[in-house]
Amino acid sequence: MQKIVILGAGESGIGAALLASQKGYDVFVSDGGSIGERFKAELNNHSISFEENGHSESKILSADEIIKSPGIPEKAPIMKKVRNTGIPVISEIEFSFRYIGNSKVIAITGSNGKTTTTALTYHIFKHSGESCAMVGNIGYSFARQIAIEPKDIYVVEISSFQLDDIQSFRPKVAVITNITEDHLDRYDYKIENYIASKFKIIQNQTDEDVFIYNLDDSVTMNSISNYPIKSTQAPITMSRELSQGAYLTNAQMHLKWKEEEMKMSIEDFAIKGKHNQYNSMAASMAATALDIRKEKIREALQTFQSLEHRMEFVATIKGVDFVNDSKATNINSTWFALESMTKPVILILGGVDKGNDYNLLKEMMMEKVKAIVCLGIDNSKIHEAFKEIIPLIVDTESAEEAVKSAYHFANKGEVVLLSPACASFDLFKNYEDRGSQFKQAVRDL
Ligand code: ADP
Repeated sequence: MQKIVILGAGESGIGAALLASQKGYDVFVSDGGSIGERFKAELNNHSISFEENGHSESKILSADEIIKSPGIPEKAPIMKKVRNTGIPVISEIEFSFRYIGNSKVIAITGSNGKTTTTALTYHIFKHSGESCAMVGNIGYSFARQIAIEPKDIYVVEISSFQLDDIQSFRPKVAVITNITEDHLDRYDYKIENYIASKFKIIQNQTDEDVFIYNLDDSVTMNSISNYPIKSTQAPITMSRELSQGAYLTNAQMHLKWKEEEMKMSIEDFAIKGKHNQYNSMAASMAATALDIRKEKIREALQTFQSLEHRMEFVATIKGVDFVNDSKATNINSTWFALESMTKPVILILGGVDKGNDYNLLKEMMMEKVKAIVCLGIDNSKIHEAFKEIIPLIVDTESAEEAVKSAYHFANKGEVVLLSPACASFDLFKNYEDRGSQFKQAVRDL
């Protein structure tokens, strides 16, 4: 019996354990921290052996193959030992891919917009009546979905960490939404390494597969020639017409694929903002490439509900709009959030900064922002960056305080936007907690 060890017992590790045990492997799960009660119960129910709060080296190093969870860095001592022994290490998506049978995979990666593009793509396929599942970040892991309820189409959201350990993973459609500096701590602070891992999504594709990428994204375009592309290309852009791909001119999206063409006004997209126009183009191109009917794509783009904590409209109170974009944890996403604003903005900004260059926001700030409410423990970089251009900058240390002061600064016809450009763990459990506390504070006004 082949011995498989799974390092890390989060949703992807547990999914991999369930699938591996179903496929007849001898499975052992090892987590350096504690494992959630629900997950432990699942492992027990399936008689899968596991350990928590530490790694037994001898057991791990006797594996025939190791599935590494995306949260475990190469720097972890156990990974160094594993690499020294030369035991093959794969990611959960690589393992899952072995068992997809004749089903098709649409894989979506990028620095920003993955979840939105994944959810929208799934919505289009679902609306069209296909047997499909959305896996990765929302809902089940890819492996769990295959173990529990296989489908004809999997729309998979993939982080660069999952791509680092692939070998044969070959999606029918691959999407790179965009690439900006993020998670560089895991890539020796070299953006080339991070870019290379994103491009792994196309490494096994042939001309029977489709690659969707953003022609307007400078990092993608500056590096694309370093990677051999065998895939059929269907890029997206807002800057020119294309013979194949999706482009936007005069507020119309054009989808061109083989002999087909479809047009749709961006006014009809349910989700607003320039970044969502890119996400809508990528998702509808993916659907087009798999022959989903135009009317179905059109209807789905009109009916898609935006996701929680991503440019989520909360309420209008005495003429002031409140928008929750707590998921914006880097500069690029805050830039796009501001770009989509049509009213003067009171911006709630700050938290734990992952090396932000605030200069990139200056122009957009001058154009759109009237006041900044900092929500973080150390806000000195924000003050330093914007004190010359934004007259009103205040510090707050709770969602309630931030909402109250933002509301105080706002006049009728203006908008309070939580789009922090930072992680949340100085004051909150995670970005969901920050977004939920923001919404509660708005309701309490
Ligand atoms: P991810 O899953 O990649 O983190 P999300 O879809 O959850 O991306 O969106 C995260 C944040 O990034 C949102 O709050 C939004 O403001 C911003 N965003 C979404 N799509 C894009 C895009 N295509 N380009 C830049 N920023 C985006």
